[in-house]
Amino acid sequence: MAIILDGKKLSETIKQEIAVEVKKLTDSSLLSPGLAVIIVGNNPASKVYVSSKKKACAATGVFSLEVALDENISQEKLIEEINKLNKDDRINGILLQLPLPKHLDEHAALEAIKPEKDVDGFHPINVGKLYIGLDTFVPCTPKGIMELLKRNNVQIAGKNAVVIGRSNIVGKPIGALLMKENATVTIAHSKTQNLPELVKNADIVVSAIGKPKFVKGDWIKDGAVVVDVGINSVDDPSSPKGYKLVGDVEYEEAEKKASYITPVPGGVGPMTIAMLLSNTLKARMNK
Ligand code: NDP
Repeated sequence: MAIILDGKKLSETIKQEIAVEVKKLTDSSLLSPGLAVIIVGNNPASKVYVSSKKKACAATGVFSLEVALDENISQEKLIEEINKLNKDDRINGILLQLPLPKHLDEHAALEAIKPEKDVDGFHPINVGKLYIGLDTFVPCTPKGIMELLKRNNVQIAGKNAVVIGRSNIVGKPIGALLMKENATVTIAHSKTQNLPELVKNADIVVSAIGKPKFVKGDWIKDGAVVVDVGINSVDDPSSPKGYKLVGDVEYEEAEKKASYITPVPGGVGPMTIAMLLSNTLKARMNK
């Protein structure tokens, strides 16, 4: 039976650590860290994410500002709003909630955020720094995965790691981080031919696909470390909501073979918000 990598519990510990640091600042009459979250339009999932980010800020003493913008805002106006926050001394971190409405240019908007305030780590300057091994803002989900592994003393150096998914938010940066920690990394994607074989040889598997139970339990090597980033909603008539959240991995089967495994929910998800606060504190301390 695998050891559960409990992201819910660890994220609470990390939030307490952040709250202590924030209190040290405010006790010395210094400004607490400040996070601005920009949300464009009425995407219901985005609203839920923004509200949980605000709650996490409140719980740790981080100042938060929600900037809600109209669905039809022009690119110029959006950049103007970002520039206001770039100049606002109360704000150390700026997060642009994605996805944006189709008429807006996501890359240009992310590039408008000052790299020093880019707590999501999506600005090309910060992405570049990550790849050449410089200190930077590491995107929150991959940063959370590394914290989960390190604080549970999971050995990374010398291991074969297979990352499934190559998004800019998860797959690519977790690949870079695992490589930095001296794993031998393979990044798989939808055109990969021999995925089951690759996974069968992996000491560490990170799945970030977004397809329920896609990674089969019998692909998992005995003793492998399984990190399931996927969050998929599936019908569940027995739940009051009529659905439940599952990962990308066949959990029950994989758990029997893995040495460590992240549950969904309660694994990588809660770590992501804790890392957003951690990056906001980092931005404040860098000032
Ligand atoms: P994307 O949709 O951006 O990327 C999915 C990746 O999966 C792509 O690289 C795609 O390949 C790959 N893929 C799709 N089908 C296959 C296949 N059959 N075989 C191998 N690879 C495949 O997703 P994200 O990275 O943004 O998110 C992935 C999952 O993680 C989602 O469920 C999302 O909800 C969740 N997530 C969870 C977070 C958390 O906090 N826990 C944070 C962010 C995401 P290709 O590039 O070839 O299309």
